[in-house]
Amino acid sequence: MKTLYEKISEKLGVNVKINEPLSGYTSYSTGGNADAVFFPKTEVEARALTEELRDNGIEYAALGNGTNVLVSDDGYRGAIISTAELKGITISGSVLKAHSGDKLSEILDCALYNSLGGIEFLCGIPATLGGAIAMNAGCFGKSIGDFVLYVTSASGIYKRAECGFDYRTSRFSEKNDLVISACLNLENVEYDLSENKSEYFKSLRRTRQPRGKSCGSVFKNDGYYAGKVIESCMLKGYSVGGARVSDKHANFIIAEKGATSSDISQLIAHIKSTVKQNCGVELKEEIRYLGRFSDGDDV
Ligand SMILES: Cc1cc2nc3c(=O)[nH]c(=O)nc-3n(C[C@H](O)[C@H](O)[C@H](O)COP(=O)(O)OP(=O)(O)OC[C@H]3O[C@@H](n4cnc5c(N)ncnc54)[C@H](O)[C@@H]3O)c2cc1C
Repeated sequence: MKTLYEKISEKLGVNVKINEPLSGYTSYSTGGNADAVFFPKTEVEARALTEELRDNGIEYAALGNGTNVLVSDDGYRGAIISTAELKGITISGSVLKAHSGDKLSEILDCALYNSLGGIEFLCGIPATLGGAIAMNAGCFGKSIGDFVLYVTSASGIYKRAECGFDYRTSRFSEKNDLVISACLNLENVEYDLSENKSEYFKSLRRTRQPRGKSCGSVFKNDGYYAGKVIESCMLKGYSVGGARVSDKHANFIIAEKGATSSDISQLIAHIKSTVKQNCGVELKEEIRYLGRFSDGDDV
């Protein structure tokens, strides 16, 4: 007998994988199975899918490149909307329109070939556009939201001022509103200068950030540098199972061979309690949880 997910897939013509392991979709490569993973290819499919899931009372969550999520070892009960196939970049003057599944690296290349820039600081963030918009990704004092003209989501079209962009958050992540596409307002730049800038940002990352499976910064820098605070508690190198605090950058947790999401979430809990006890600082996670965790965090 067909599952409800397969019926929805057939009705809308959207590909679905049932009982799909999510470890292959995240940079930590940990976590269990989702009941279903859908792959909309167009804006129409994406919007129809969110409506259909809502009408059927099915919980859902968006997944981009999985570089900022920790998936429960028990997986996710509901539907994941993967944006991997929702792609397409167009340029008109200095405005670049991209879809949520386009990788930032592809967007940066496309902008560069058209002598458009201003967003070189994003170079090296392994995100999709949708994930970057939802998280208002950024670094070196700038965020992608600063360059947004408007965002088209499952619920409507939002000008930048309406997107609720703040430090590593937006209305889209807060309201679980699927980002479908966005228009970025870029600057005319000289090809060589823009390429040099990108290389510069890449080299900064190479020197400051560890290699290995991670989600980048685990905690927000919220009036303090989380990495420095964690380091001051002598937690560099501390590990739980296969999860280890990086020796190079204490705000990175590296998932080593055999690591589970439970190892990572237990290490996060240990870091938070140690830092609270020793420094009085309440660290807040930048990473997002997907599925149920024993300490109650879930999506
Ligand atoms: C090596 C490394 C370096 C990093 N450096 C940085 C950095 O410098 N700055 C920074 O900000 N981040 C950084 N990150 C973290 C991460 O890349 C960003 O948070 C990025 O924005 C996540 O994009 P994603 O496509 O992987 O999203 P995912 O991890 O797939 O999802 C992240 C969140 O966004 C939601 N989401 C995803 N797609 C959509 C969509 N289309 N619509 C609505 N919600 C959606 C998800 O449900 C989830 O809550 C780094 C990560 C790594 C591994």
